[in-house]
Amino acid sequence: MPESQTPTGFAIAIDGPASSGKGTVARLVAKELRYAYIDTGSMYRSVALLARRHGIPWEDEETLAELAESLDFRFSFRDGAFKVVVNGEDLSQPIRTEVVGQGASSVAVQPMVRAALLGVQRGLAQREGVVLDGRDIGTVVLPDAPLKVFMDAKLVVRAQRRHTELIGRGIEKTVSQVQQELAARDHQDSSRATAPLKQAADAVYLDTTALTPETVAWNIVALARERGAIDG
Ligand code: C5P
Repeated sequence: MPESQTPTGFAIAIDGPASSGKGTVARLVAKELRYAYIDTGSMYRSVALLARRHGIPWEDEETLAELAESLDFRFSFRDGAFKVVVNGEDLSQPIRTEVVGQGASSVAVQPMVRAALLGVQRGLAQREGVVLDGRDIGTVVLPDAPLKVFMDAKLVVRAQRRHTELIGRGIEKTVSQVQQELAARDHQDSSRATAPLKQAADAVYLDTTALTPETVAWNIVALARERGAIDG
Protein backbone atom coordinates (compact mmCIF):
# COMPACT_ATOMS: atom_id res chain seq x y z
CA MET A 1 0.00 0.00 0.00
CA PRO A 2 1.38 3.46 -0.82
CA GLU A 3 2.47 5.52 2.17
CA SER A 4 0.51 8.58 1.12
CA GLN A 5 -1.81 9.52 -1.68
CA THR A 6 -4.30 12.27 -2.28
CA PRO A 7 -7.53 11.35 -0.49
CA THR A 8 -10.11 10.07 -2.91
CA GLY A 9 -13.35 11.42 -1.53
CA PHE A 10 -14.69 7.87 -1.23
CA ALA A 11 -17.10 7.66 1.70
CA ILE A 12 -18.17 4.48 3.47
CA ALA A 13 -21.35 4.67 5.56
CA ILE A 14 -21.76 2.06 8.30
CA ASP A 15 -24.96 1.89 10.32
CA GLY A 16 -26.41 -0.56 12.77
CA PRO A 17 -27.77 -1.06 16.30
CA ALA A 18 -25.74 -0.75 19.50
CA SER A 19 -22.95 -3.30 19.87
CA SER A 20 -23.36 -4.67 16.36
CA GLY A 21 -19.58 -4.30 16.06
CA LYS A 22 -19.71 -1.36 13.69
CA GLY A 23 -17.18 0.78 15.57
CA THR A 24 -14.56 -1.98 15.70
CA VAL A 25 -15.15 -2.87 12.07
CA ALA A 26 -15.20 0.75 10.89
CA ARG A 27 -11.83 1.37 12.56
CA LEU A 28 -10.31 -1.71 10.92
CA VAL A 29 -11.65 -0.62 7.52
CA ALA A 30 -10.41 2.96 7.93
CA LYS A 31 -6.99 1.78 9.09
CA GLU A 32 -6.61 -0.60 6.15
CA LEU A 33 -7.68 1.99 3.57
CA ARG A 34 -5.85 4.81 5.41
CA TYR A 35 -9.03 6.81 5.58
CA ALA A 36 -10.31 9.15 8.24
CA TYR A 37 -12.78 7.64 10.69
CA ILE A 38 -15.61 9.50 12.34
CA ASP A 39 -17.67 7.88 15.08
CA THR A 40 -20.81 10.04 14.86
CA GLY A 41 -22.19 8.47 18.04
CA SER A 42 -19.37 10.25 19.88
CA MET A 43 -20.99 13.58 18.92
CA TYR A 44 -24.38 12.68 20.41
CA ARG A 45 -22.59 11.28 23.44
CA SER A 46 -20.61 14.52 23.86
CA VAL A 47 -23.80 16.60 23.73
CA ALA A 48 -25.39 14.34 26.37
CA LEU A 49 -22.36 14.48 28.67
CA LEU A 50 -21.88 18.25 28.42
CA ALA A 51 -25.62 18.85 28.86
CA ARG A 52 -25.52 16.90 32.09
CA ARG A 53 -22.52 18.90 33.30
CA HIS A 54 -24.32 22.16 32.53
CA GLY A 55 -27.55 21.00 34.14
CA ILE A 56 -29.44 20.95 30.83
CA PRO A 57 -32.15 18.27 30.78
CA TRP A 58 -31.86 15.72 27.96
CA GLU A 59 -35.38 16.72 26.87
CA ASP A 60 -34.73 20.46 26.51
CA GLU A 61 -34.48 20.54 22.71
CA GLU A 62 -33.74 24.23 22.15
CA THR A 63 -31.05 24.55 24.79
CA LEU A 64 -29.49 21.26 23.69
CA ALA A 65 -29.40 22.46 20.10
CA GLU A 66 -27.71 25.71 21.19
CA LEU A 67 -25.19 23.66 23.11
CA ALA A 68 -24.58 21.37 20.12
CA GLU A 69 -24.03 24.38 17.87
CA SER A 70 -21.52 25.88 20.27
CA LEU A 71 -19.28 22.82 20.25
CA ASP A 72 -16.00 22.64 18.40
CA PHE A 73 -15.36 18.99 17.54
CA ARG A 74 -11.86 17.78 16.72
CA PHE A 75 -11.34 14.18 15.79
CA SER A 76 -8.17 12.18 15.41
CA PHE A 77 -7.65 8.65 14.23
CA ARG A 78 -4.15 7.26 14.67
CA ASP A 79 -2.94 3.65 14.81
CA GLY A 80 -6.55 2.49 14.86
CA ALA A 81 -7.46 4.62 17.89
CA PHE A 82 -10.20 7.24 17.68
CA LYS A 83 -10.12 10.38 19.80
CA VAL A 84 -12.71 13.12 20.18
CA VAL A 85 -11.76 16.52 21.59
CA VAL A 86 -14.63 18.93 22.27
CA ASN A 87 -13.94 22.59 23.00
CA GLY A 88 -10.37 21.60 23.78
CA GLU A 89 -11.22 18.76 26.18
CA ASP A 90 -10.53 15.13 25.38
CA LEU A 91 -13.89 13.40 25.93
CA SER A 92 -12.93 10.06 24.37
CA GLN A 93 -13.19 8.17 27.67
CA PRO A 94 -15.84 10.06 29.69
CA ILE A 95 -18.44 9.63 26.93
CA ARG A 96 -18.17 5.83 27.05
CA THR A 97 -20.34 5.22 30.10
CA GLU A 98 -23.71 3.46 29.88
CA VAL A 99 -25.52 6.49 31.29
CA VAL A 100 -24.06 8.74 28.61
CA GLY A 101 -25.04 6.14 25.96
CA GLN A 102 -28.66 6.31 27.12
CA GLY A 103 -28.42 10.11 27.27
CA ALA A 104 -27.06 10.19 23.72
CA SER A 105 -30.08 8.22 22.56
CA SER A 106 -32.40 10.70 24.33
CA VAL A 107 -30.76 13.82 22.87
CA ALA A 108 -30.60 12.13 19.44
CA VAL A 109 -34.40 11.98 19.30
CA GLN A 110 -34.56 15.77 19.00
CA PRO A 111 -34.65 17.12 15.44
CA MET A 112 -32.92 20.41 16.34
CA VAL A 113 -30.00 18.58 17.92
CA ARG A 114 -29.68 16.34 14.88
CA ALA A 115 -29.81 19.36 12.57
CA ALA A 116 -27.00 21.02 14.53
CA LEU A 117 -24.72 17.98 14.13
CA LEU A 118 -25.67 17.06 10.56
CA GLY A 119 -23.76 19.92 8.96
CA VAL A 120 -20.62 19.08 10.91
CA GLN A 121 -20.86 15.42 9.87
CA ARG A 122 -21.40 16.25 6.20
CA GLY A 123 -18.54 18.75 6.26
CA LEU A 124 -16.17 16.16 7.68
CA ALA A 125 -17.19 13.63 5.05
CA GLN A 126 -16.58 15.92 2.08
CA ARG A 127 -12.89 16.35 2.62
CA GLU A 128 -11.26 12.97 2.20
CA GLY A 129 -11.58 9.23 2.06
CA VAL A 130 -13.67 8.61 5.11
CA VAL A 131 -15.55 5.98 7.08
CA LEU A 132 -18.51 7.24 9.13
CA ASP A 133 -20.48 5.06 11.49
CA GLY A 134 -23.76 5.74 13.24
CA ARG A 135 -27.48 5.16 12.81
CA ASP A 136 -28.48 7.41 9.90
CA ILE A 137 -25.32 7.74 7.83
CA GLY A 138 -26.61 5.85 4.79
CA THR A 139 -30.14 7.23 5.01
CA VAL A 140 -29.63 10.90 5.97
CA VAL A 141 -26.03 12.06 6.41
CA LEU A 142 -24.53 10.59 3.22
CA PRO A 143 -27.40 9.30 1.07
CA ASP A 144 -25.09 9.25 -1.99
CA ALA A 145 -22.24 7.31 -0.36
CA PRO A 146 -20.80 4.80 -2.85
CA LEU A 147 -20.75 2.10 -0.18
CA LYS A 148 -23.30 1.70 2.59
CA VAL A 149 -23.28 -1.15 5.06
CA PHE A 150 -25.91 -2.09 7.61
CA MET A 151 -24.45 -4.29 10.32
CA ASP A 152 -26.56 -6.34 12.65
CA ALA A 153 -26.21 -9.27 15.04
CA LYS A 154 -28.59 -11.22 17.25
CA LEU A 155 -29.54 -9.28 20.38
CA VAL A 156 -28.22 -11.96 22.72
CA VAL A 157 -24.81 -11.89 21.00
CA ARG A 158 -24.68 -8.11 21.06
CA ALA A 159 -25.52 -8.20 24.77
CA GLN A 160 -22.73 -10.72 25.40
CA ARG A 161 -20.25 -8.53 23.50
CA ARG A 162 -21.25 -5.44 25.47
CA HIS A 163 -21.17 -7.41 28.72
CA THR A 164 -17.61 -8.60 28.04
CA GLU A 165 -16.58 -5.03 27.23
CA LEU A 166 -18.14 -3.76 30.49
CA ILE A 167 -16.48 -6.47 32.57
CA GLY A 168 -13.17 -5.42 30.99
CA ARG A 169 -13.83 -1.93 32.30
CA GLY A 170 -14.69 -3.24 35.76
CA ILE A 171 -18.44 -2.65 35.44
CA GLU A 172 -20.56 -5.37 37.03
CA LYS A 173 -23.87 -6.08 35.29
CA THR A 174 -25.68 -9.24 34.32
CA VAL A 175 -25.99 -10.17 30.64
CA SER A 176 -29.77 -9.92 30.90
CA GLN A 177 -29.53 -6.39 32.37
CA VAL A 178 -27.25 -5.38 29.48
CA GLN A 179 -29.61 -7.04 27.01
CA GLN A 180 -32.60 -5.10 28.36
CA GLU A 181 -30.71 -1.80 28.11
CA LEU A 182 -29.60 -2.51 24.54
CA ALA A 183 -33.13 -3.46 23.52
CA ALA A 184 -34.52 -0.25 25.06
CA ARG A 185 -31.93 1.91 23.27
CA ASP A 186 -32.49 0.14 19.92
CA HIS A 187 -36.23 0.65 20.32
CA GLN A 188 -35.77 4.37 21.02
CA ASP A 189 -33.34 4.72 18.07
CA SER A 190 -35.55 2.81 15.62
CA SER A 191 -38.88 4.35 16.57
CA ARG A 192 -37.99 8.05 16.64
CA ALA A 193 -39.57 10.24 13.97
CA THR A 194 -36.38 11.94 12.73
CA ALA A 195 -33.59 9.88 11.15
CA PRO A 196 -34.44 6.59 12.83
CA LEU A 197 -32.06 3.64 12.81
CA LYS A 198 -32.94 1.96 9.52
CA GLN A 199 -31.22 0.13 6.72
CA ALA A 200 -30.87 2.24 3.56
CA ALA A 201 -32.50 0.58 0.55
CA ASP A 202 -29.12 0.32 -1.20
CA ALA A 203 -27.08 -0.78 1.83
CA VAL A 204 -25.30 -4.12 2.02
CA TYR A 205 -26.68 -6.09 4.99
CA LEU A 206 -24.10 -7.92 7.10
CA ASP A 207 -25.10 -10.17 9.97
CA THR A 208 -22.05 -10.30 12.23
CA THR A 209 -23.49 -12.80 14.75
CA ALA A 210 -21.04 -15.54 13.78
CA LEU A 211 -18.28 -13.46 12.19
CA THR A 212 -15.10 -11.92 13.57
CA PRO A 213 -14.64 -8.16 13.16
CA GLU A 214 -11.67 -8.90 10.87
CA THR A 215 -13.76 -11.04 8.51
CA VAL A 216 -16.44 -8.37 8.31
CA ALA A 217 -13.88 -5.60 7.80
CA TRP A 218 -12.05 -7.41 4.99
CA ASN A 219 -15.38 -7.99 3.24
CA ILE A 220 -16.12 -4.28 3.41
CA VAL A 221 -12.63 -3.32 2.21
CA ALA A 222 -13.00 -5.69 -0.75
CA LEU A 223 -16.40 -4.22 -1.62
CA ALA A 224 -15.02 -0.68 -1.33
CA ARG A 225 -12.11 -1.46 -3.67
CA GLU A 226 -14.51 -3.12 -6.13
CA ARG A 227 -16.51 0.09 -6.13
CA GLY A 228 -13.53 2.28 -6.84
CA ALA A 229 -12.06 3.13 -3.44
CA ILE A 230 -8.37 3.99 -3.68
CA ASP A 231 -6.22 3.71 -0.57
CA GLY A 232 -5.59 7.03 1.14
O1 C5P B 1 -22.97 4.53 18.41
P1 C5P B 1 -23.21 4.92 19.84
O2 C5P B 1 -23.76 3.82 20.67
O3 C5P B 1 -22.03 5.58 20.46
O4 C5P B 1 -24.33 6.06 19.73
C1 C5P B 1 -24.95 6.59 20.88
C2 C5P B 1 -26.34 7.05 20.51
O5 C5P B 1 -26.23 8.17 19.63
C3 C5P B 1 -27.19 6.04 19.75
O6 C5P B 1 -27.92 5.20 20.60
C4 C5P B 1 -28.11 6.92 18.91
O7 C5P B 1 -29.26 7.29 19.64
C5 C5P B 1 -27.29 8.18 18.68
N1 C5P B 1 -26.80 8.25 17.32
C6 C5P B 1 -27.65 8.70 16.34
N2 C5P B 1 -27.21 8.88 15.08
C7 C5P B 1 -25.94 8.61 14.76
C8 C5P B 1 -25.05 8.11 15.72
C9 C5P B 1 -25.53 7.93 17.01
O8 C5P B 1 -28.82 8.95 16.61
N3 C5P B 1 -25.53 8.82 13.49
